[in-house]
Amino acid sequence: MTHDSASLYVRHQAVLPSWLGLFYERPLELTHGEGRHVWDAEGNRYLDFFGGILTTMTAHALPEVTRAVAEQAGRIIHTSTQYLSRPMVELAERIAALSGIPDARVFFTTSGTEANDAALLLATAYRGSNQVLAMRNSYHGRSFSAIGVTGNTSWSPTSLSPLQTLYVHGGVRGRGPFAELDDGAYTAACVADLEDMLQQTAGGVAALIAEPVQGVGGFTAPPDGLYAAFREVLTRHGILWISDEVQTGWGRTGDHFWGWQAHAGNGPPDLLTFAKGIGNGMSIGGVVARAEVMNALPANSISTFGGSPVTMAAGLANLTYLLEHDLPGNARRVGGLLIERLRAVSAGLDVVREVRGRGLMIGIELVRPGTGEPSPEAAALVLETARERGLLVGKGGLGGATLRIAPPMSLTVAEAEEGADLLADALRTAQQRW
Ligand code: PLP
Repeated sequence: MTHDSASLYVRHQAVLPSWLGLFYERPLELTHGEGRHVWDAEGNRYLDFFGGILTTMTAHALPEVTRAVAEQAGRIIHTSTQYLSRPMVELAERIAALSGIPDARVFFTTSGTEANDAALLLATAYRGSNQVLAMRNSYHGRSFSAIGVTGNTSWSPTSLSPLQTLYVHGGVRGRGPFAELDDGAYTAACVADLEDMLQQTAGGVAALIAEPVQGVGGFTAPPDGLYAAFREVLTRHGILWISDEVQTGWGRTGDHFWGWQAHAGNGPPDLLTFAKGIGNGMSIGGVVARAEVMNALPANSISTFGGSPVTMAAGLANLTYLLEHDLPGNARRVGGLLIERLRAVSAGLDVVREVRGRGLMIGIELVRPGTGEPSPEAAALVLETARERGLLVGKGGLGGATLRIAPPMSLTVAEAEEGADLLADALRTAQQRW
């Protein structure tokens, strides 16, 4: 087989939407992976610090997952939720027990967007209202209702969603179409704002949806105590809390298995959504809620591909590996070392505004030296330079100025050190450019 990424790129441009957004100017076609490494069509090897947007949770081509997928596919690929499925029941049991939600039920979808759609549908049906609260700068997906709670105009150009969304962030209030973006600072004034907003809506709000650490938003966490304070207000008003754990789940943030546990003033969320890493690349999403909330939907609310046996088998093998090898503990230890190392190599580089994160979810925010303005140009340059050196990282945040680092959770200390050195080199190149 001959590989020609350049002609594949031309074909890509002719049939795929331009807004899909390839990361690299020189197209990159990945053909295979192993462990924490991937290879391109030209045979170049890269250390993978992004894990396919946090989907490769444990490792590329993990033999346990590959074997489980092949064995299940050899038996039966699809049955649908109208029949009993052993892998689906077993994975639901594991996730329900891990969720922290009492009397938990799990509904499987095939993506994070659909998981959030289902959570919003459940919460609005349960509370009998289509009003929801969302955080500014959030990202929850691209369906009609998910864009309705995605609080950044550059990720969702219009709010035609059937939901009525109220935004909470940094003391700024906006209703319906997005208010102008602010600098993203969270302030204590939010809590007073929330009380105020709820008085005005006379208790009509169904739920708040929030990411414990904003993912696409640039790996930004709210200050300690803010979500616990929100939660107290919402609980008093009977409003449901939806924790979008699509990026933060499964111990990636190191300290906790779920992101909500870092804000656990008032216990588990009412609804928890998950996706990305659990299938190690296979399409699994889902929502967990206590039975009373889950039963708010009418009978026969099925999902054709949700809970498909092959993906469930992958999820079971992947989750088993994660727990047996204590990868959350590894994310804490190796992630801690990596953050320290990245802070050390960034010291003195004024192209870096901040290195932040928890566990193996690390953001490096880049700015234009001198002006301090977010610099997507610097991020693009670092991405390209790192790729030339053999390292793949992601980007996100306002305007795409934050480098996002989220390697498979089996990352070794040696790999973390090697990646930090390669990144240091790329950051110095960006520093010299401006
Ligand atoms: N929620 C969060 C926090 C996400 O980061 C994403 C995707 O990046 C989604 C939801 C949407 O997930 P998917 O792309 O699987 O539909």
